[in-house]
Amino acid sequence: MALAHTHSTPSETLPATTSTPTPTLGAATIALHGLQPKRVTGESLAGSIVQSTSFRQSSVGGDPVPHAYSRCSNPTVDDLEVALGAIENAPPAVTFGTGLAAETALFLSVLRAGDHVVLGDCIYGGTVRLAQQVLANLGITHTFAPSTDPEKIQAAITPRTKLVFIETPANPTLVLTDIQAIADICKPRNILLAVDNTFLTPVILRPLDLGADIAVYSTTKHIEGHGAALGGALTTRDPALLARFRFIRKSTGAIQSPLNAYLTLRGLRTLPLRVREHSRHAQVIAEWLETNPAVARVNYPGLESFPQAALARRAHATASGTFHGGVLSFELLGGVPAALAFLSAVRLCTLAEHVGSIESIVTHSATMTHADVPAEQRRAAGISDGLVRLSVGLEDPADVIADLTQALAAAHAAVNTPAVETKPLTAAAQLVAAK
Ligand SMILES: *Cc1c(COP(=O)(O)O)cnc(C)c1O
Repeated sequence: MALAHTHSTPSETLPATTSTPTPTLGAATIALHGLQPKRVTGESLAGSIVQSTSFRQSSVGGDPVPHAYSRCSNPTVDDLEVALGAIENAPPAVTFGTGLAAETALFLSVLRAGDHVVLGDCIYGGTVRLAQQVLANLGITHTFAPSTDPEKIQAAITPRTKLVFIETPANPTLVLTDIQAIADICKPRNILLAVDNTFLTPVILRPLDLGADIAVYSTTKHIEGHGAALGGALTTRDPALLARFRFIRKSTGAIQSPLNAYLTLRGLRTLPLRVREHSRHAQVIAEWLETNPAVARVNYPGLESFPQAALARRAHATASGTFHGGVLSFELLGGVPAALAFLSAVRLCTLAEHVGSIESIVTHSATMTHADVPAEQRRAAGISDGLVRLSVGLEDPADVIADLTQALAAAHAAVNTPAVETKPLTAAAQLVAAK
C-alpha cells in the first residue's frame, strides 16, 4: 500500500536482516541483547564504536561490501537500528542525527510539491516550525486538526492529503490520540499515518501494532535517556518505505553518527527499566501536585481526573503493567508570573529544554519549546502561558517533591510582589532564559 505514496522507485536494496522478525523474547531482553544475543567468542560485551567514514573494498566492481561509506551505513549504526526495530517487532529502524532530521526525511520521503499533510494540533514545536517555515516553502501544504477528535482529522483530509502526522501524548498538554481510530480513517483512503512516539517509547506504546504505518522517535529523549546524544529514528514494517527512508537519508546526509549510535544503544539497554520507573515517579508526583493548593490543574494520563483516563488505561497497558510515561504538566495559581518565579526557584530540578532524561527537568512551554508556535495556536491547543512541564527523573520522588514544595512557596511569595506581577511575559521570560 505504501508504494502508492512514494514518488520515485526506491533505488536502494535493503540489508539482508530486514524481514519482519517474529519476537519470542520480551522487550527488556530485546532492549539488552537485540533480536539475537550475540555469541561470538572473544567479542566485547559492551559492543564497539566503528568510528570510520569509509570501509576497504577488495576490487573495483568486486563483491558488494556490507558497508562502504558511513553516510549510507555503518556497523555501529546498524547495531542500533536492529535493536530499535526489534523492540517494536519491525525490521531495523532508520536512524538520524536528530529527531527533526528523522521527521524531515519522513516528510521528504512521502510528500512532494502540491501534497498536503494533516498535523495533529498539539505536536512538538519543532515539527510545527518544519511544516510552517520549511515544507510550506516547498509547496507542501498542511492543516492542523485536533487529533483527539478523529472526525476533525477526517474533515481536514483533502484529495491531496498523503500523510497524517500525530503525536500522543501531546506535548505538553498530555492530551491523548486514539491511534486505532485515526488509522481506521487513513487506511481506506490510502493515506499514511505517522505517530511521534517519543514520549511513551515502544516500551509503553507500539503505534505499528495499532495500525500506524510509521513510528517517529527523537531518541534524544527517553531512548538515549542520559542527555548525552541527539538522535532520531523511523520504524515501519513496510519494506518500500524503509528503502525510501534510507535513500532520502543518504541523499540528504542525515545519518546518525557512530558515537551517538553507540550511546543511544547503551541507553536502549535500560530503556524498559527506566521508562517504568519514570512512570511510577511521575504518578506519585502528579498525585501530590493535584492535592497542592498552589496548583490550579495537573495534566497526567495516570490521574483519575484526566479527561481521557479510560483511553489512557486502554492504550498504555503493557505486559508488565500500565504506565503513562515520565512527563506531566501543570498550571500554577497566579498564572505566568507564578510559573516564571517557580521555574527560577527550583534547585534539584533543572530548568532546561529537554524531556526523558535521568534527571528531573522543568520547562516553560510558551517561551521555550513552543516559542515559535503562534500564541493563538498555542492557546487553542491548551498551552496556556502559565503552564509548566515537568519531566520526572529517577531521583527519589520525595526529594523532587521537597524541591517542588520550596519552589511553589517561592512562586507564591513572588506573585504577591507587585514588581513581579506587573512584569510583562517577554521581560520575565528573558530573565528565566538568561538563568
Ligand atoms: C525533542 C522532540 C522532537 C525533536 O527531536 P530532536 O532530537 O530534538 O531533533 C520531536 N518530537 C518530540 C515529541 C520531541 O520531544
